[in-house]
Amino acid sequence: LQPLEQLVERCRGAGMRMTPQRRAIFRYLSGNSAHPTAEDIFRAVRRRHPGLSLATVYNTLETLHQLGEVGRLDVGGGAERFDPEVRPHHHFNCRRCGKVQDVFAELPVPHLGALPGCRVDSVQVQLIGLCQDCSRRSASKKPPERPRAPA
Ligand SMILES: [Zn+2]
Ligand SMILES: [Zn+2]
Repeated sequence: LQPLEQLVERCRGAGMRMTPQRRAIFRYLSGNSAHPTAEDIFRAVRRRHPGLSLATVYNTLETLHQLGEVGRLDVGGGAERFDPEVRPHHHFNCRRCGKVQDVFAELPVPHLGALPGCRVDSVQVQLIGLCQDCSRRSASKKPPERPRAPA
């Protein structure tokens, strides 16, 4: 996602009517690394813009996607998520809390014999595991080891 004012100009150029609601959606997305769903965006922005409709959120996201300003992401769990980080990156998905984090790492492009005639030129890897919070939490949940009472 570009800086707010540049983005507003680009969207105007693409024929989008700039409303305070759309600006608020841009502001919410700007620098947001939580990979929100359309519902998340709707709920957050509606607090200050009660007239906002979910349809406005969806079509604003659609335009931003067409302009290459947001990525769409399916990490399972139903809802599609939106990502204002458009530089190539991978994702780490916590299987317990569902948090999605960006991973910037160069991963080698595999040469797969399984795709004859195709040329792979980018790789997106979804890493799955426990995030820092969840792995800490699961470590502290383990019952403390107690010495056994002698029989
Ligand atoms: Zn987690
Ligand atoms: Zn991302």
